[in-house]
Amino acid sequence: MFILVLNSGSSSIKYKLFDISGKGERLLDKGVVERIGHKVPSHREALAMILDKLRTRIDAVGHRVVHGGKFKEAAIVNKEVIKEISRFSEVAPLHNPAAIMTITESMKLISGIPHVSVFDTAFYQTMPEHAYLYAIPYRYHEKYRIRKYGFHGTSHRYVTMQAARILKKSINNVNLVTCHLGNGCSITAVENGKAIDTSMGFTPLEGLIMGTRSGDIDPAIIPYIMEKENIDINAVMKMLNKKSGLLGISGISNDMREIIKAARSSKKARLALDMFIYRIKKYIGAYVGILKKVDAVVFTGGIGENYAGLMKKTCKGVVPKNSKILIIPTDEELMIARDTYNLVS
Ligand code: ADP
Repeated sequence: MFILVLNSGSSSIKYKLFDISGKGERLLDKGVVERIGHKVPSHREALAMILDKLRTRIDAVGHRVVHGGKFKEAAIVNKEVIKEISRFSEVAPLHNPAAIMTITESMKLISGIPHVSVFDTAFYQTMPEHAYLYAIPYRYHEKYRIRKYGFHGTSHRYVTMQAARILKKSINNVNLVTCHLGNGCSITAVENGKAIDTSMGFTPLEGLIMGTRSGDIDPAIIPYIMEKENIDINAVMKMLNKKSGLLGISGISNDMREIIKAARSSKKARLALDMFIYRIKKYIGAYVGILKKVDAVVFTGGIGENYAGLMKKTCKGVVPKNSKILIIPTDEELMIARDTYNLVS
């Protein structure tokens, strides 16, 4: 079955084409169309460019959707799916509107075949209430569905499956702390193959220190800065999402390679690196604490897969002696293709 996977952002669409059957999986092509809204006028044109390049039969399309609200697993796109994705556009403004645009346009351009949505949040629908609720009046949860949703779920789920395979365990019997460390960073506690807690929250802003996001802060800092700097809430949110994290502390870059280089001579780059590592260590420690057993701590994502010294620095003294430490390259698109195959075949 030829499956096209589309991963769309506000100004780009990444794609991979797989041939998946009962016998195996093959990547046939991949690429990206960038600068949508500038060089390429719209998502529709970007899709037309991709299809023009591929010139092949497509049997199904799998779409990455960042915020899937209530969905527990991948779903064939219908009106209800679109409605739920739209509902969460407000809290995932860079991703959900782009996903809707790509889904609706590609359904017109590649019609008559199933389109499947695979949600980053779905892996976290197994979290217990005591982990996903915030300790604010319960009515906000009831009225606005405010809770921890978790993100990067497709990546954490993929490395969980790979880890089970490496450890020669069934998926229902594997206990892990999975660390996805890329531009965005998150850590998940996996008990018997299911997510029981994760560092990202209602939005991807919570948790670890990231390239440009602050991660955890005291919410009282927000009104304090607004008053002192005489700026509005949009400016503060922009600061927390785009100007904080590694970039905010170092004043140099959001890119880990640059930070590592600069740390040799810049005190602030060194500090950003120390803070990044310290926060990861704290979360690993917390998740080791809530899991009954840890078969392995898994590292993935651009930083997790390539920063050799990181594992030692974050695991030393917190990871039980008999737990393994694994580096597993992630492949979110393959996971999306597999979900699509399983749903439509
Ligand atoms: P995204 O989250 O956008 O998919 P990636 O998973 O590719 O991004 O991760 C990007 C991050 O990985 C960047 O901060 C980059 O500096 C970092 N990275 C890539 N290679 C290395 C390396 N060899 N050592 C340390 N960090 C690296």
